[in-house]
Amino acid sequence: MPGLTRPSTELSPDFAQEVIQKMLESNIAVTHKSFHVWFDYAMGWHPELGIAIGSLQRREEPITTEVCESLYDQHIGTERTQGVLVETQTNTQDILQTILKDVLDAGGAATEYGNELNAVSAELGEASEVGKIRDVVQGLVSETAKMANSSQELQSKLEAATNDVETLRKRLDHLEQESLTDPLTGLKNRKALERHLASCFADHARDGAPFSLIMLDIDHFKDFNDKYGHHIGDAVLRIVSATLSDTSKNEALAHRYGGEEFSVVLPGINLDSALEIAERYRGSVESKRLKVAKTSEAIAPITISLGVCEVQTEDNDDTIMQRADKALYLAKDAGRNNVKSELDLGAAAKS
Ligand code: GH3
Ligand code: MG
Ligand code: MG
Repeated sequence: MPGLTRPSTELSPDFAQEVIQKMLESNIAVTHKSFHVWFDYAMGWHPELGIAIGSLQRREEPITTEVCESLYDQHIGTERTQGVLVETQTNTQDILQTILKDVLDAGGAATEYGNELNAVSAELGEASEVGKIRDVVQGLVSETAKMANSSQELQSKLEAATNDVETLRKRLDHLEQESLTDPLTGLKNRKALERHLASCFADHARDGAPFSLIMLDIDHFKDFNDKYGHHIGDAVLRIVSATLSDTSKNEALAHRYGGEEFSVVLPGINLDSALEIAERYRGSVESKRLKVAKTSEAIAPITISLGVCEVQTEDNDDTIMQRADKALYLAKDAGRNNVKSELDLGAAAKS
């Protein structure tokens, strides 16, 4: 994709136009999906899309209209937003077609104007009388005014169209984020985990990039709820979630898998480093000192058990999660408040 400089302001019609021009120059058909991919990529809205395009570029693979559409399906469109997409797609398509037509018309108008200028200069060359020269200059003035009007009209049409596209995009983004977020903790949910894993598996298949997975579960959480109540239990779920986000390296992707279970995907991280990260999570949760706000009663320390594994050849979503889960249950068996890895699974099987 040719270099598009992200505008300093959030959005500008000029930028939408620039994107479309660049797409046309690169022989990309401007469809709802391909436009989204180019535009969102330039704006840096979807990190995973940026990574996918980066690796296509590294491998010097052509980014055709079809590739754009499949990038859209993989990284921008989601199952849940698909319904809304269908509803709004025609709308967006219309808007894009209008922008495109305007851009092409403007090109046409500019050419006409150029032809007119050429004709005028030829006439001027031939004109011998002052009256004739005045007529020619008058014609030139009115052509110039027409051109100025048409580009002003184009500018405001583009502004209106870009605002419409932006409203649609915000609506879809909002829905998408909502469908991938756990409302209680604000962490990403299980559906997002599936997506993150799919993207890690794709990178791994392409260039062997390692990644690791941590599954973790709060210890004796049922007893905790029974003792302090569900409300305080919910607060603890939020505290553990915040710890996973705080203690995470930037690239770690923490999810609430369900109930009091969490998973963290670590792209580019091998087993040794993942074990260190898991140990940091464990220590950090254990060291929290909590009190019931109303009574100042000290709450018993919370602990978590963690299972860690790294992707292996032939792995898929199920196998990697099963291994991490088995390691987690080994950590539970070892007395809880523990980290175990898939390496311990072999040792446990032998003993
Ligand atoms: P273990 O150490 O073996 O994991 O024991 P545990 O008690 O944590 O495990 P168990 O699976 O028996 O119980 C899980 C508990 O998690 C039961 C349920 O009340 C609690 N839980 C699950 N989701 C929520 C939630 O959203 N809020 C609260 N407060 N509790 C939840
Ligand atoms: Mg559990
Ligand atoms: Mg538990």
